[in-house]
Amino acid sequence: MLKKIEHIGIAVKDLNKANEIYSKILNSKPYKQEFVDSENVMTSFFKIGDSKIEILDSRDEQSAINKFIQKKGEGIHHIAFEVEDIQSEMQRLIEEGFHCLNEIPKKGADNKLVCFFHPKDSCGVLIELCQEIIT
Ligand code: ZN
Repeated sequence: MLKKIEHIGIAVKDLNKANEIYSKILNSKPYKQEFVDSENVMTSFFKIGDSKIEILDSRDEQSAINKFIQKKGEGIHHIAFEVEDIQSEMQRLIEEGFHCLNEIPKKGADNKLVCFFHPKDSCGVLIELCQEIIT
């Protein structure tokens, strides 16, 4: 089951500048900043009600975020849906013909297991499924 839009990911060139801009828009400060090893990106997170904005700043030329920015410039990078059971939702979408980019969920930012689906199948928007890691 998809529970909600967990967050929207925005690719930026300058994390500090983006933090300033989104602090003004949302009238609050990011509640955390975190380096994500698996993606080589620095992230910061803002809360808006039940959803979040995830700011993504590449720390590596080879990273997916850097490639995205080279190609398209700054902007919305993905939409993340929170799921209860990432394996079963992945399976469901794969059976529907969507292309999963990592068939083994990996550890993403903010204590989540994540997997991504190719934007070519979803009208140009990269889809993330995420499940809270319960510790
Ligand atoms: Zn995300």
